[in-house]
Amino acid sequence: MQLSGTDFYRAYRPSECNKRIYLHHKGIKAADPGPYEEVIRRLGDRHERKYLATFQGVVDLTRGTNDERQVATLEAIRVGTAVIYQPMFTATLELGGQACNVVGIPDLLIREGEEYLIRDVKMTRRIAEHPEILWQLRLYGWLFERAIQRPPLRLEVFNGRSELIAIEPEPVEDTLTRLAVLIADADAPFEPVGWSRCGGCGYNERCWGEAKARNDVAMVLNVDKGLARALRSINVVSYDDLLVKFDEAKLSAFEKPRGNKTQKVGKAAKDILLSARALQTKLPIRLGPVVIPAKPNFVMFDLEGLPPHLDDLEKIYLWGMQVYGERPSEFMAATAGFGENGDKDGWDKFLACAEKVMAEHGAIPFVHWSHYEKTKINLYIRRHGDPNGIAASVLDNLFDLLPVAQAAVMLPLPSYSLKVVEEYVGFQRSQDEYGGAWSMAQYIEATETEDEDARQKVMDTILKYNEDDLAATWAVLDWLRKFGRGEVGSLLQRDWVAFD
Ligand code: SF4
Repeated sequence: MQLSGTDFYRAYRPSECNKRIYLHHKGIKAADPGPYEEVIRRLGDRHERKYLATFQGVVDLTRGTNDERQVATLEAIRVGTAVIYQPMFTATLELGGQACNVVGIPDLLIREGEEYLIRDVKMTRRIAEHPEILWQLRLYGWLFERAIQRPPLRLEVFNGRSELIAIEPEPVEDTLTRLAVLIADADAPFEPVGWSRCGGCGYNERCWGEAKARNDVAMVLNVDKGLARALRSINVVSYDDLLVKFDEAKLSAFEKPRGNKTQKVGKAAKDILLSARALQTKLPIRLGPVVIPAKPNFVMFDLEGLPPHLDDLEKIYLWGMQVYGERPSEFMAATAGFGENGDKDGWDKFLACAEKVMAEHGAIPFVHWSHYEKTKINLYIRRHGDPNGIAASVLDNLFDLLPVAQAAVMLPLPSYSLKVVEEYVGFQRSQDEYGGAWSMAQYIEATETEDEDARQKVMDTILKYNEDDLAATWAVLDWLRKFGRGEVGSLLQRDWVAFD
Protein backbone atom coordinates (compact mmCIF):
# COMPACT_ATOMS: atom_id res chain seq x y z
CA MET A 1 0.00 0.00 0.00
CA GLN A 2 1.27 3.46 -0.83
CA LEU A 3 0.06 6.58 0.95
CA SER A 4 0.97 10.09 -0.08
CA GLY A 5 0.10 13.71 0.65
CA THR A 6 -2.52 13.54 -2.11
CA ASP A 7 -4.50 11.06 -0.02
CA PHE A 8 -5.36 13.87 2.39
CA TYR A 9 -6.91 15.70 -0.55
CA ARG A 10 -8.92 12.61 -1.39
CA ALA A 11 -10.08 12.37 2.21
CA TYR A 12 -11.21 15.99 2.47
CA ARG A 13 -11.89 17.50 -0.97
CA PRO A 14 -14.40 18.46 -2.25
CA SER A 15 -15.93 17.28 1.07
CA GLU A 16 -14.83 15.03 3.91
CA CYS A 17 -15.57 11.45 2.85
CA ASN A 18 -13.81 8.17 3.64
CA LYS A 19 -15.37 6.39 0.70
CA ARG A 20 -13.54 8.52 -1.86
CA ILE A 21 -10.08 7.48 -0.65
CA TYR A 22 -11.26 3.87 -0.32
CA LEU A 23 -12.57 3.70 -3.88
CA HIS A 24 -9.41 5.28 -5.25
CA HIS A 25 -7.17 2.73 -3.53
CA LYS A 26 -9.34 -0.10 -4.80
CA GLY A 27 -8.51 1.05 -8.33
CA ILE A 28 -11.95 2.46 -9.10
CA LYS A 29 -11.46 5.39 -11.38
CA ALA A 30 -13.15 8.67 -10.55
CA ALA A 31 -14.66 10.85 -13.28
CA ASP A 32 -12.18 13.21 -14.89
CA PRO A 33 -11.98 16.66 -13.31
CA GLY A 34 -14.48 19.13 -14.72
CA PRO A 35 -13.59 22.51 -16.26
CA TYR A 36 -13.78 24.21 -12.88
CA GLU A 37 -11.28 21.84 -11.25
CA GLU A 38 -9.02 22.22 -14.31
CA VAL A 39 -9.07 26.01 -14.03
CA ILE A 40 -8.29 25.84 -10.30
CA ARG A 41 -5.38 23.49 -11.02
CA ARG A 42 -4.04 25.78 -13.73
CA LEU A 43 -4.30 28.84 -11.49
CA GLY A 44 -2.49 26.89 -8.77
CA ASP A 45 0.34 25.93 -11.16
CA ARG A 46 0.70 29.53 -12.25
CA HIS A 47 0.76 30.81 -8.68
CA GLU A 48 3.50 28.26 -7.88
CA ARG A 49 5.62 29.11 -10.95
CA LYS A 50 5.38 32.81 -10.19
CA TYR A 51 6.49 32.28 -6.62
CA LEU A 52 9.30 29.93 -7.63
CA ALA A 53 10.66 32.60 -9.98
CA THR A 54 11.32 34.85 -6.95
CA PHE A 55 14.12 32.47 -5.80
CA GLN A 56 17.62 32.18 -7.23
CA GLY A 57 19.80 29.09 -7.46
CA VAL A 58 16.91 26.64 -7.09
CA VAL A 59 17.78 22.96 -7.49
CA ASP A 60 14.88 21.28 -9.28
CA LEU A 61 14.34 17.62 -8.29
CA THR A 62 11.12 17.08 -10.24
CA ARG A 63 12.58 14.34 -12.46
CA GLY A 64 13.74 10.78 -11.83
CA THR A 65 12.43 7.68 -10.13
CA ASN A 66 11.34 7.82 -6.51
CA ASP A 67 14.65 6.28 -5.42
CA GLU A 68 16.69 8.71 -7.50
CA ARG A 69 14.75 11.69 -6.22
CA GLN A 70 15.04 10.62 -2.60
CA VAL A 71 18.81 10.14 -2.96
CA ALA A 72 19.11 13.50 -4.74
CA THR A 73 17.09 15.16 -1.97
CA LEU A 74 19.33 13.86 0.79
CA GLU A 75 22.43 14.84 -1.17
CA ALA A 76 21.09 18.36 -1.83
CA ILE A 77 20.47 18.76 1.91
CA ARG A 78 23.91 17.36 2.76
CA VAL A 79 25.69 19.91 0.57
CA GLY A 80 23.53 22.73 1.96
CA THR A 81 21.60 23.70 -1.20
CA ALA A 82 19.80 27.01 -0.57
CA VAL A 83 16.45 26.14 -2.20
CA ILE A 84 15.30 22.66 -3.25
CA TYR A 85 12.21 22.40 -5.46
CA GLN A 86 10.06 19.24 -5.26
CA PRO A 87 12.29 17.15 -3.02
CA MET A 88 11.04 13.67 -2.20
CA PHE A 89 10.93 11.76 1.07
CA THR A 90 9.70 8.22 1.52
CA ALA A 91 9.28 5.91 4.50
CA THR A 92 8.38 2.23 4.67
CA LEU A 93 6.67 1.09 7.83
CA GLU A 94 3.79 -0.94 9.22
CA LEU A 95 0.55 0.93 9.78
CA GLY A 96 -2.44 -0.87 11.28
CA GLY A 97 -0.91 -4.24 10.37
CA GLN A 98 -0.25 -3.16 6.75
CA ALA A 99 3.15 -2.67 5.14
CA CYS A 100 3.01 0.88 3.81
CA ASN A 101 5.19 3.04 1.68
CA VAL A 102 4.57 6.69 2.58
CA VAL A 103 5.64 9.34 0.08
CA GLY A 104 5.81 13.11 0.45
CA ILE A 105 6.83 15.75 -2.08
CA PRO A 106 6.86 19.26 -0.59
CA ASP A 107 7.12 22.17 -2.99
CA LEU A 108 10.17 23.74 -1.39
CA LEU A 109 12.91 23.09 1.13
CA ILE A 110 14.52 26.40 2.06
CA ARG A 111 17.75 26.67 4.03
CA GLU A 112 17.83 29.11 6.92
CA GLY A 113 21.19 29.08 8.69
CA GLU A 114 22.08 25.41 9.11
CA GLU A 115 18.45 24.25 9.09
CA TYR A 116 15.71 23.70 6.53
CA LEU A 117 12.11 24.81 6.55
CA ILE A 118 9.37 23.21 4.44
CA ARG A 119 7.17 25.50 2.38
CA ASP A 120 4.25 24.60 0.12
CA VAL A 121 2.61 26.98 -2.35
CA LYS A 122 -1.19 26.97 -2.43
CA MET A 123 -3.83 29.04 -4.21
CA THR A 124 -6.11 28.72 -1.19
CA ARG A 125 -6.55 31.93 0.80
CA ARG A 126 -7.86 30.48 4.06
CA ILE A 127 -5.41 27.73 4.91
CA ALA A 128 -6.80 27.04 8.40
CA GLU A 129 -10.09 25.91 6.82
CA HIS A 130 -8.33 23.19 4.82
CA PRO A 131 -7.42 20.16 6.95
CA GLU A 132 -5.97 18.45 3.87
CA ILE A 133 -3.29 21.16 3.61
CA LEU A 134 -2.49 21.05 7.33
CA TRP A 135 -2.11 17.25 7.25
CA GLN A 136 -0.07 17.34 4.08
CA LEU A 137 2.48 19.73 5.61
CA ARG A 138 2.59 17.71 8.84
CA LEU A 139 3.24 14.59 6.77
CA TYR A 140 6.18 16.32 5.05
CA GLY A 141 7.55 17.42 8.42
CA TRP A 142 7.27 13.88 9.77
CA LEU A 143 8.96 12.34 6.69
CA PHE A 144 11.72 14.97 6.82
CA GLU A 145 12.44 14.16 10.45
CA ARG A 146 12.57 10.42 9.75
CA ALA A 147 15.00 10.99 6.88
CA ILE A 148 17.24 13.69 8.43
CA GLN A 149 16.97 12.72 12.10
CA ARG A 150 15.94 16.24 13.10
CA PRO A 151 12.72 18.19 12.55
CA PRO A 152 12.36 20.95 9.95
CA LEU A 153 12.76 24.49 11.23
CA ARG A 154 9.17 25.38 10.32
CA LEU A 155 6.23 24.23 8.22
CA GLU A 156 4.79 27.03 6.08
CA VAL A 157 2.34 27.71 3.28
CA PHE A 158 2.64 30.58 0.82
CA ASN A 159 -1.06 31.19 0.24
CA GLY A 160 -3.23 32.77 -2.48
CA ARG A 161 -2.92 36.15 -0.76
CA SER A 162 0.90 35.92 -0.92
CA GLU A 163 1.11 35.52 2.86
CA LEU A 164 3.27 33.00 4.72
CA ILE A 165 1.13 30.92 7.06
CA ALA A 166 2.86 28.82 9.73
CA ILE A 167 1.47 25.31 10.30
CA GLU A 168 1.78 23.70 13.72
CA PRO A 169 3.40 20.26 13.47
CA GLU A 170 1.38 17.37 14.87
CA PRO A 171 1.97 13.61 14.98
CA VAL A 172 0.66 11.97 11.80
CA GLU A 173 0.98 8.25 12.59
CA ASP A 174 -2.55 7.91 13.99
CA THR A 175 -4.09 9.61 10.97
CA LEU A 176 -2.01 7.50 8.56
CA THR A 177 -2.97 4.35 10.47
CA ARG A 178 -6.65 5.27 10.25
CA LEU A 179 -6.33 5.67 6.47
CA ALA A 180 -4.36 2.42 6.09
CA VAL A 181 -6.98 0.43 8.04
CA LEU A 182 -9.79 2.03 6.06
CA ILE A 183 -8.18 1.22 2.71
CA ALA A 184 -7.34 -2.38 3.69
CA ASP A 185 -10.95 -3.17 4.66
CA ALA A 186 -12.80 -5.57 2.38
CA ASP A 187 -15.94 -3.41 2.53
CA ALA A 188 -16.32 0.20 1.52
CA PRO A 189 -16.95 2.49 4.52
CA PHE A 190 -20.54 3.59 4.92
CA GLU A 191 -20.89 7.16 3.70
CA PRO A 192 -24.38 8.57 3.13
CA VAL A 193 -24.80 10.55 -0.07
CA GLY A 194 -25.59 14.24 0.21
CA TRP A 195 -26.50 16.64 -2.56
CA SER A 196 -23.90 19.23 -1.56
CA ARG A 197 -21.21 16.92 -0.21
CA CYS A 198 -21.20 14.77 -3.34
CA GLY A 199 -21.31 17.75 -5.72
CA GLY A 200 -17.98 17.97 -7.53
CA CYS A 201 -16.86 14.51 -6.32
CA GLY A 202 -15.52 12.20 -9.04
CA TYR A 203 -17.63 9.32 -7.69
CA ASN A 204 -20.90 11.26 -7.75
CA GLU A 205 -22.49 9.23 -10.53
CA ARG A 206 -21.45 5.95 -8.97
CA CYS A 207 -22.61 6.74 -5.41
CA TRP A 208 -25.85 8.44 -6.45
CA GLY A 209 -26.60 5.63 -8.89
CA GLU A 210 -26.27 3.13 -6.03
CA ALA A 211 -28.31 5.34 -3.69
CA LYS A 212 -31.15 5.65 -6.19
CA ALA A 213 -31.15 1.92 -6.84
CA ARG A 214 -31.76 1.17 -3.14
CA ASN A 215 -34.11 4.12 -2.43
CA ASP A 216 -31.47 5.28 0.02
CA VAL A 217 -32.80 7.12 3.05
CA ALA A 218 -29.95 9.65 2.67
CA MET A 219 -31.75 11.00 -0.43
CA VAL A 220 -34.59 12.26 1.75
CA LEU A 221 -34.55 16.02 2.37
CA ASN A 222 -33.36 17.01 5.86
CA VAL A 223 -31.78 13.60 6.48
CA ASP A 224 -28.22 14.64 7.26
CA LYS A 225 -25.16 12.40 7.59
CA GLY A 226 -25.69 11.88 11.31
CA LEU A 227 -29.31 10.88 10.95
CA ALA A 228 -28.56 8.56 8.02
CA ARG A 229 -25.93 6.80 10.16
CA ALA A 230 -28.25 6.55 13.18
CA LEU A 231 -31.04 5.12 10.99
CA ARG A 232 -28.69 2.63 9.42
CA SER A 233 -27.68 1.40 12.88
CA ILE A 234 -31.30 0.25 13.36
CA ASN A 235 -31.51 -1.19 9.83
CA VAL A 236 -33.40 1.69 8.27
CA VAL A 237 -31.58 1.89 4.95
CA SER A 238 -34.22 3.03 2.48
CA TYR A 239 -36.99 5.59 2.58
CA ASP A 240 -39.39 2.67 2.37
CA ASP A 241 -37.96 1.32 5.65
CA LEU A 242 -38.29 4.77 7.17
CA LEU A 243 -41.97 5.02 6.27
CA VAL A 244 -42.69 1.55 7.65
CA LYS A 245 -40.88 2.02 10.96
CA PHE A 246 -41.59 5.64 11.84
CA ASP A 247 -44.49 7.98 12.30
CA GLU A 248 -44.00 11.67 13.00
CA ALA A 249 -43.99 11.35 16.81
CA LYS A 250 -41.54 8.46 16.80
CA LEU A 251 -39.16 10.13 14.36
CA SER A 252 -39.36 13.42 16.20
CA ALA A 253 -38.13 11.68 19.40
CA PHE A 254 -35.39 9.74 17.58
CA GLU A 255 -31.84 10.73 18.58
CA LYS A 256 -29.15 11.43 16.04
CA PRO A 257 -25.49 12.27 16.63
CA ARG A 258 -24.48 15.90 16.57
CA GLY A 259 -20.81 16.55 17.25
CA ASN A 260 -19.97 14.66 20.44
CA LYS A 261 -23.57 14.74 21.63
CA THR A 262 -26.93 13.56 20.37
CA GLN A 263 -29.96 15.56 19.36
CA LYS A 264 -33.63 14.70 18.76
CA VAL A 265 -34.84 14.96 15.17
CA GLY A 266 -37.62 17.22 16.51
CA LYS A 267 -39.75 19.35 14.20
CA ALA A 268 -37.87 18.25 11.07
CA ALA A 269 -39.58 14.84 11.40
CA LYS A 270 -42.71 15.94 9.54
CA ASP A 271 -40.87 17.23 6.47
CA ILE A 272 -38.58 14.20 6.46
CA LEU A 273 -41.54 11.84 6.29
CA LEU A 274 -43.25 13.98 3.65
CA SER A 275 -40.11 13.98 1.55
CA ALA A 276 -39.77 10.20 1.94
CA ARG A 277 -43.38 9.74 0.86
CA ALA A 278 -42.95 12.03 -2.14
CA LEU A 279 -39.84 10.09 -3.23
CA GLN A 280 -41.63 6.78 -2.74
CA THR A 281 -44.76 7.73 -4.67
CA LYS A 282 -42.87 9.93 -7.17
CA LEU A 283 -45.65 12.46 -6.66
CA PRO A 284 -45.51 16.02 -5.32
CA ILE A 285 -47.33 16.55 -2.04
CA ARG A 286 -49.40 19.68 -1.59
CA LEU A 287 -48.34 21.50 1.58
CA GLY A 288 -50.03 24.87 1.31
CA PRO A 289 -51.13 27.62 -1.07
CA VAL A 290 -48.79 28.81 -3.82
CA VAL A 291 -48.27 32.42 -2.82
CA ILE A 292 -47.22 34.34 -5.93
CA PRO A 293 -48.35 37.95 -6.42
CA ALA A 294 -51.01 38.43 -9.11
CA LYS A 295 -48.91 40.57 -11.45
CA PRO A 296 -49.03 40.68 -15.24
CA ASN A 297 -45.23 40.74 -15.52
CA PHE A 298 -42.25 39.44 -13.56
CA VAL A 299 -38.58 40.03 -14.11
CA MET A 300 -36.43 36.94 -13.70
CA PHE A 301 -33.18 37.87 -11.99
CA ASP A 302 -29.97 35.87 -11.60
CA LEU A 303 -26.37 36.69 -10.75
CA GLU A 304 -23.13 34.90 -11.53
CA GLY A 305 -20.24 35.59 -9.18
CA LEU A 306 -16.90 34.38 -7.89
CA PRO A 307 -16.61 33.02 -4.33
CA PRO A 308 -14.13 34.52 -1.82
CA HIS A 309 -11.59 31.72 -2.28
CA LEU A 310 -11.18 32.70 -5.95
CA ASP A 311 -11.54 36.44 -5.68
CA ASP A 312 -11.10 38.69 -2.66
CA LEU A 313 -13.80 40.98 -4.02
CA GLU A 314 -16.39 38.19 -4.32
CA LYS A 315 -17.03 39.78 -7.66
CA ILE A 316 -20.36 39.53 -9.48
CA TYR A 317 -19.37 39.22 -13.13
CA LEU A 318 -22.88 38.99 -14.57
CA TRP A 319 -26.15 40.60 -13.49
CA GLY A 320 -28.83 39.03 -15.68
CA MET A 321 -32.53 39.87 -15.98
CA GLN A 322 -35.42 39.36 -18.36
CA VAL A 323 -39.09 40.32 -18.13
CA TYR A 324 -41.60 37.47 -18.59
CA GLY A 325 -45.40 37.71 -18.67
CA GLU A 326 -47.72 39.89 -20.74
CA ARG A 327 -44.99 42.29 -21.90
CA PRO A 328 -41.82 40.23 -22.13
CA SER A 329 -38.45 41.83 -22.78
CA GLU A 330 -35.20 40.81 -24.36
CA PHE A 331 -32.55 39.25 -22.15
CA MET A 332 -30.56 42.01 -20.42
CA ALA A 333 -27.11 41.38 -18.98
CA ALA A 334 -24.81 43.75 -17.14
CA THR A 335 -21.30 42.30 -17.19
CA ALA A 336 -18.32 43.44 -15.15
CA GLY A 337 -15.51 44.87 -17.26
CA PHE A 338 -12.07 43.30 -17.30
CA GLY A 339 -10.18 46.49 -16.44
CA GLU A 340 -9.44 48.20 -13.14
CA ASN A 341 -12.96 49.64 -12.74
CA GLY A 342 -14.67 46.55 -14.13
CA ASP A 343 -16.49 45.69 -10.92
CA LYS A 344 -17.99 49.18 -10.54
CA ASP A 345 -18.84 49.26 -14.28
CA GLY A 346 -20.84 46.05 -13.89
CA TRP A 347 -22.72 47.49 -10.91
CA ASP A 348 -23.51 50.74 -12.73
CA LYS A 349 -24.77 48.81 -15.78
CA PHE A 350 -26.93 46.66 -13.52
CA LEU A 351 -28.46 49.75 -11.88
CA ALA A 352 -29.17 51.21 -15.34
CA CYS A 353 -30.90 47.97 -16.48
CA ALA A 354 -32.94 47.75 -13.27
CA GLU A 355 -33.94 51.42 -13.56
CA LYS A 356 -35.15 50.85 -17.13
CA VAL A 357 -37.22 47.80 -16.11
CA MET A 358 -38.82 49.65 -13.19
CA ALA A 359 -39.49 52.73 -15.36
CA GLU A 360 -41.47 50.51 -17.77
CA HIS A 361 -43.17 48.20 -15.28
CA GLY A 362 -43.28 50.01 -11.93
CA ALA A 363 -43.00 47.78 -8.85
CA ILE A 364 -42.37 44.55 -10.75
CA PRO A 365 -41.27 41.48 -8.74
CA PHE A 366 -37.56 40.60 -9.27
CA VAL A 367 -37.86 36.82 -9.11
CA HIS A 368 -34.78 34.89 -7.98
CA TRP A 369 -33.97 31.48 -6.47
CA SER A 370 -32.52 31.45 -2.93
CA HIS A 371 -30.83 34.29 -1.06
CA TYR A 372 -27.66 34.87 -3.13
CA GLU A 373 -29.08 37.86 -5.05
CA LYS A 374 -30.21 39.68 -1.92
CA THR A 375 -26.89 39.13 -0.14
CA LYS A 376 -24.89 40.38 -3.12
CA ILE A 377 -27.00 43.49 -3.73
CA ASN A 378 -26.48 44.47 -0.09
CA LEU A 379 -22.74 43.82 -0.47
CA TYR A 380 -22.55 46.00 -3.59
CA ILE A 381 -24.56 48.83 -2.00
CA ARG A 382 -21.92 48.88 0.76
CA ARG A 383 -19.10 48.64 -1.78
CA HIS A 384 -20.15 51.11 -4.50
CA GLY A 385 -23.20 52.93 -3.10
CA ASP A 386 -26.70 53.40 -4.50
CA PRO A 387 -26.94 57.15 -5.21
CA ASN A 388 -30.41 57.08 -6.80
CA GLY A 389 -31.97 54.40 -4.62
CA ILE A 390 -32.35 51.95 -7.56
CA ALA A 391 -30.77 49.04 -5.72
CA ALA A 392 -32.96 49.80 -2.68
CA SER A 393 -36.05 49.58 -4.94
CA VAL A 394 -34.81 46.26 -6.36
CA LEU A 395 -34.36 44.99 -2.78
CA ASP A 396 -37.95 46.07 -2.00
CA ASN A 397 -39.22 44.13 -5.01
CA LEU A 398 -37.11 40.97 -4.64
CA PHE A 399 -39.22 37.83 -4.72
CA ASP A 400 -37.46 34.63 -3.68
CA LEU A 401 -39.26 31.74 -5.36
CA LEU A 402 -37.46 28.99 -3.43
CA PRO A 403 -39.25 29.45 -0.06
CA VAL A 404 -42.54 29.81 -1.95
CA ALA A 405 -41.94 26.41 -3.58
CA GLN A 406 -40.83 24.86 -0.27
CA ALA A 407 -43.95 26.09 1.54
CA ALA A 408 -46.31 24.98 -1.22
CA VAL A 409 -45.09 21.57 -2.30
CA MET A 410 -42.90 18.66 -1.25
CA LEU A 411 -41.31 17.57 -4.49
CA PRO A 412 -40.18 13.97 -5.08
CA LEU A 413 -36.59 15.18 -5.35
CA PRO A 414 -33.42 14.92 -3.26
CA SER A 415 -32.72 18.66 -3.58
CA TYR A 416 -34.48 21.96 -4.25
CA SER A 417 -31.54 23.24 -6.26
CA LEU A 418 -32.90 25.14 -9.28
CA LYS A 419 -31.12 22.74 -11.67
CA VAL A 420 -32.92 19.77 -10.09
CA VAL A 421 -36.33 21.44 -9.87
CA GLU A 422 -36.20 22.83 -13.42
CA GLU A 423 -35.53 19.36 -14.80
CA TYR A 424 -38.46 18.00 -12.81
CA VAL A 425 -40.83 20.57 -14.31
CA GLY A 426 -39.62 19.65 -17.81
CA PHE A 427 -37.36 22.60 -18.60
CA GLN A 428 -34.65 21.94 -21.17
CA ARG A 429 -31.44 23.93 -21.42
CA SER A 430 -30.00 25.13 -24.72
CA GLN A 431 -26.38 24.23 -23.85
CA ASP A 432 -24.94 20.83 -22.94
CA GLU A 433 -22.46 22.25 -20.46
CA TYR A 434 -23.69 24.53 -17.71
CA GLY A 435 -23.69 25.11 -13.97
CA GLY A 436 -22.36 27.70 -11.54
CA ALA A 437 -18.89 26.09 -11.36
CA TRP A 438 -18.73 25.72 -15.15
CA SER A 439 -19.67 29.39 -15.55
CA MET A 440 -16.93 30.49 -13.11
CA ALA A 441 -14.37 28.41 -15.01
CA GLN A 442 -15.48 30.02 -18.28
CA TYR A 443 -15.25 33.48 -16.79
CA ILE A 444 -11.73 32.88 -15.48
CA GLU A 445 -10.79 31.72 -19.01
CA ALA A 446 -12.23 34.96 -20.36
CA THR A 447 -10.27 37.11 -17.91
CA GLU A 448 -7.02 35.37 -18.82
CA THR A 449 -7.10 35.62 -22.59
CA GLU A 450 -5.84 38.65 -24.47
CA ASP A 451 -7.65 37.50 -27.62
CA GLU A 452 -10.79 39.65 -27.84
CA ASP A 453 -12.63 37.23 -30.19
CA ALA A 454 -11.91 34.23 -27.98
CA ARG A 455 -13.01 36.22 -24.92
CA GLN A 456 -16.28 37.23 -26.57
CA LYS A 457 -16.99 33.62 -27.55
CA VAL A 458 -16.51 32.50 -23.95
CA MET A 459 -18.61 35.37 -22.61
CA ASP A 460 -21.38 34.45 -25.08
CA THR A 461 -21.62 30.96 -23.58
CA ILE A 462 -21.82 32.43 -20.05
CA LEU A 463 -24.52 34.85 -21.16
CA LYS A 464 -26.48 32.00 -22.74
CA TYR A 465 -26.17 30.02 -19.52
CA ASN A 466 -27.52 32.94 -17.50
CA GLU A 467 -30.35 33.45 -20.00
CA ASP A 468 -31.24 29.77 -19.57
CA ASP A 469 -31.20 30.23 -15.79
CA LEU A 470 -33.77 33.00 -16.14
CA ALA A 471 -35.93 30.91 -18.46
CA ALA A 472 -35.67 28.01 -15.99
CA THR A 473 -36.80 30.23 -13.10
CA TRP A 474 -39.79 31.32 -15.17
CA ALA A 475 -40.60 27.71 -16.06
CA VAL A 476 -40.61 26.81 -12.35
CA LEU A 477 -42.76 29.83 -11.50
CA ASP A 478 -45.19 28.86 -14.23
CA TRP A 479 -45.29 25.25 -13.02
CA LEU A 480 -45.94 26.42 -9.45
CA ARG A 481 -48.87 28.54 -10.60
CA LYS A 482 -50.34 25.53 -12.44
CA PHE A 483 -49.75 23.41 -9.35
CA GLY A 484 -51.51 26.07 -7.28
CA ARG A 485 -54.51 25.92 -9.64
CA GLY A 486 -54.65 22.14 -9.25
CA GLU A 487 -53.51 21.42 -12.81
CA VAL A 488 -50.71 19.06 -11.70
CA GLY A 489 -51.33 15.61 -10.21
CA SER A 490 -50.38 15.58 -6.53
CA LEU A 491 -51.05 14.06 -3.15
CA LEU A 492 -52.73 16.03 -0.42
CA GLN A 493 -50.77 16.27 2.80
CA ARG A 494 -53.50 14.50 4.76
CA ASP A 495 -53.42 11.58 2.29
CA TRP A 496 -49.89 10.53 2.94
CA VAL A 497 -50.44 9.44 6.53
CA ALA A 498 -52.88 6.73 5.49
CA PHE A 499 -51.30 6.03 2.16
CA ASP A 500 -50.15 2.50 3.01
S1 SF4 B 1 -19.98 10.74 -4.25
FE1 SF4 B 1 -20.41 11.32 -2.13
S2 SF4 B 1 -20.43 9.43 -0.95
FE2 SF4 B 1 -19.45 8.99 -2.92
S3 SF4 B 1 -17.29 9.20 -2.57
FE3 SF4 B 1 -18.00 11.17 -3.30
S4 SF4 B 1 -18.56 12.38 -1.49
FE4 SF4 B 1 -18.33 10.22 -0.86
